Amino acid sequence: MMQTDISTNTVLCLHCQHISSAHMKTCLTCGEPLHQRKVDSYNRTLYLTLAAIVFYLPSNYFTIMKTQTLTTYEDNTIIQGIFYFFQHGEFFVGTVIFMASVFIPMVKLVILMFLLYSIKTNSTWKLRDKNKLFATIHTIGRWSMLDIFVMGLMISMVHFEGLAMVTLGWASLSFAIMVVLTMFATQSFDTRLLWDTKLK
Ligand SMILES: [Zn+2]
Repeated sequence: MMQTDISTNTVLCLHCQHISSAHMKTCLTCGEPLHQRKVDSYNRTLYLTLAAIVFYLPSNYFTIMKTQTLTTYEDNTIIQGIFYFFQHGEFFVGTVIFMASVFIPMVKLVILMFLLYSIKTNSTWKLRDKNKLFATIHTIGRWSMLDIFVMGLMISMVHFEGLAMVTLGWASLSFAIMVVLTMFATQSFDTRLLWDTKLK
């Protein structure tokens, strides 16, 4: 029988990992409010994650950036933008944009789906590692604004190339929505649900 904070009549502080007795309203160590479980955490995380996936697709498929000069007009997706930087020898910028706008958002969504799946199936496999996995995306989440920052960087870099006008396409809106939805999904997730599995 695995023990959770519910089964031992205690409550785990998600902020500092300190364990208090179940009747405590705030954490004695860090002062954060204590709740046995976040309200409706599973469903909220699931729907927010699914919605983020829905917005992830158009943000990579449609035009993120329109560039216009006197003679040319070009629509670019994120991937095309990345290729653009690689072709011009800007490997660092290209890599940062790839990580921030394609790879990391995808990893976050895949991990959230994996954790939800493992709660749904009452999996007890590598619970400690799953906790660490969530801690990782939670930490990355603090850098979510980097994704937006990268968009700005992308535009200013193209400006330096001497192009007349750069405007954002629809993909930038769905990208921003996807970032915010992922942030809320991460906040809604309660790692303690992973440990409740054997109680059912
Ligand atoms: Zn605490």
